[in-house]
Amino acid sequence: ATAGRPILEAEGVARQFGRFVALGGVDLALEAGEKRALIGPNGAGKSTFINVVGGQLAASAGTIRLDGRDVTGLQPHQLARSGLGRTFQISRTYRQMSVRENLVAAYLVARGHGYSLSRGRLRALAAEAEALLERVGIAGLAERPADDISHGDRKRLEFAMVLAGEPRLLLLDEPTAGMGLKERHELMDLVAEEASGRGLTLLFVEHDIDVVFRIADRITVMARGQVFAEGTADEIAADREVQRIYLGE
Ligand code: ADP
Ligand code: MG
Repeated sequence: ATAGRPILEAEGVARQFGRFVALGGVDLALEAGEKRALIGPNGAGKSTFINVVGGQLAASAGTIRLDGRDVTGLQPHQLARSGLGRTFQISRTYRQMSVRENLVAAYLVARGHGYSLSRGRLRALAAEAEALLERVGIAGLAERPADDISHGDRKRLEFAMVLAGEPRLLLLDEPTAGMGLKERHELMDLVAEEASGRGLTLLFVEHDIDVVFRIADRITVMARGQVFAEGTADEIAADREVQRIYLGE
């Protein structure tokens, strides 16, 4: 990670549901290029925070800046134009369409092409899609309906689809949910490798602490809607309070 102006700055970000305080004023800053894990017990507010930053939920209070620009309250498509990408815990692929068609569709949406796309442009885009399918390891499944591939391969497709938008900041909320141990490590190694290669900044929620320690540059621990601790993997692993509250030791 490079020192400099943070790519993402959240200040006092709060969110209530009725009287319930899901986020009680979260401060979090990400340096460009860093891989940050967001961990904490169920109900800590991790998804709420991701959803507020991603524009799926409005903040009740606080400010969010991307590259120093106030983006508080912007809609997801506006944030996407500012370089923010995200995936969801539930798959969002077009299940009747093939793997390749899903990715080409993602490129079309990301590039804002309408019906005016020339054949040459379309061919170039198809080649890009093919190369990306190769990179994420599902080129062999290109013709298959997205409905018809394994859960893990669908996660790879979704990752490719979000990369098609060429985000600079990527939010991943439990990308490995429902995956086996080996698949989990493989997917997150791929995510980390692509992120490093592209200079992408990552904010990811992950339950598997081994994955977290393997990938994250820094870790933010949330509990009860607050940031409870933040530091390098070593610092977090050595933090007695984190061990007590989060790791249950
Ligand atoms: P985490 O992702 O850390 O497990 P969440 O952000 O999903 O936690 O949830 C934080 C708290 O906010 C939980 O107590 C949850 O029940 C509550 N919550 C989340 N979304 C809603 C909602 N739409 N309406 C009411 N309560 C919610
Ligand atoms: Mg969650």
